[in-house]
Amino acid sequence: MYDKNNVFYKILQSEIPAKKIYEDELVLSFYDINPACRVHAIVIPKKSYVDFHNFVKTATSDEVGHFFAAVAKVADMLEISNSGYRIVSNVGEDSGQEVPHFHVHILGGEKLQPHSTKILRP
Ligand code: 5GP
Repeated sequence: MYDKNNVFYKILQSEIPAKKIYEDELVLSFYDINPACRVHAIVIPKKSYVDFHNFVKTATSDEVGHFFAAVAKVADMLEISNSGYRIVSNVGEDSGQEVPHFHVHILGGEKLQPHSTKILRP
């Protein structure tokens, strides 16, 4: 169940400011307020989805395709496509997702710590 009481919904409503990178009819991208590395962007759909799982299960294929094309476009705009970058999307409680509006983090602009795909325990 989507809860409108979250910061990304408020950014979409212009209730709180964000440093915008890219916007179209379906997607908004802005800089993370607390960057984890030199370039840290957030990309969100304008429609209300709780997380990646909810997005992919309920959005149309066109919406999903458009969204991920926009993620790549933002990486191009940030000029990190050639040097490389990481995309991350936390889903739900065990991942530590803080903001319950689907978003992808784009992380780059410098060498990142290797990201283990083995089990990560806090
Ligand atoms: P999550 O843990 O949900 O994957 O990531 C949420 C991200 O949202 C965090 O990286 C956090 O720094 C960022 N964030 C939280 N509040 C704000 C805000 O008000 N503005 C912006 N631009 N980013 C925010």
